Amino acid sequence: MKELTVVEPGKLQWLDKPSPKMKTSFDAIIRPIASCNCDLDRRLIAGKTPFKAPFAIGHECVAEVLEVGSGVASVRRGDVVSIPWKIACGSCEQCLAGRSIACTGVQKYAGFGVPAGGHWGGLFSESVCVPFADAMLVKVPDGVDPVAAASVSDNLTDAWVAASRPLASRPNGKVLVVGGTESLGILAVQMARAAGAHQVDYFDDDAARNELARWSGATLRSGPDTDLHESYDVVIAATRSHDRLRTSLLALRTGGHCSCIGIIFDDPPIPLFQMYMRDITLSVGLCGVRPHMPQVLDLIQQCRCDPMIVTPTVVSWEDAPEALVAPIAKVVLARPRITASPG
Ligand SMILES: [Zn+2]
Ligand SMILES: [Zn+2]
Repeated sequence: MKELTVVEPGKLQWLDKPSPKMKTSFDAIIRPIASCNCDLDRRLIAGKTPFKAPFAIGHECVAEVLEVGSGVASVRRGDVVSIPWKIACGSCEQCLAGRSIACTGVQKYAGFGVPAGGHWGGLFSESVCVPFADAMLVKVPDGVDPVAAASVSDNLTDAWVAASRPLASRPNGKVLVVGGTESLGILAVQMARAAGAHQVDYFDDDAARNELARWSGATLRSGPDTDLHESYDVVIAATRSHDRLRTSLLALRTGGHCSCIGIIFDDPPIPLFQMYMRDITLSVGLCGVRPHMPQVLDLIQQCRCDPMIVTPTVVSWEDAPEALVAPIAKVVLARPRITASPG
């Protein structure tokens, strides 16, 4: 089978690899039918992260199930499923508490497409072995386009958690999204609206992203960032800029919450005393997507979000090595199923 591999910084190649085999009776073999790039992937490919080549890339996809072990009960060949980026057992104390990122049933940081916790394959590959299939795989509801659901594995669900978690205790809150990464800010605008935000504003320098945010229902903010100060209950910082993170934190009024989802690899200065005086919460961290994925798939089915706005570029598998290094916000690789439609 072919595996899309970062062979050296900046260079992607399809490499021939042995087809994956199930290691336990609880595994499944899946074949991606719609895979897309996470906002982190371009930096992973470029070698601008702590994770070094070579490694298989890709951790967002919808797939068809090719084969399941005898212990797998929830899915069968032909099912169309969403796959979480994080590999987790679903049954340890941490998983049962909803913290799949701290799963003790598998190597720390184990995930697809990022060599932080071992090599588990990438979700652009021709086929992939998924361990703990009952705990991991989520069936895609009828009528949901696999291309629209491809980023449920990570970015779309990350955006949902970043918006819905602080809004749960701040109903009708006023939200600011500070954009900067390729897609997360736009997805966060949509998810803040789906989570019941009273108003969603968007702040960014990029004309194309501003337009997408406006289409997604945000009111655009421009001008000096001091105009934003102490104005919002929730801020979603989808930025890697130190200055914009500071802007995000200072834009909160008393009791506010900032979800930082841009993945900043170094140590930005934090306005801690001003945060102290206003009882500000800052949340940052890997998103354990699996518990939230069914709800996000339902939001797509109910047309309460439209991730296709940020994924307009569908390319063939052959074109992936070039497309994924081009300056395109979100690229989806799509191909027809080979299993019959069940039922
Ligand atoms: Zn990701
Ligand atoms: Zn676990």
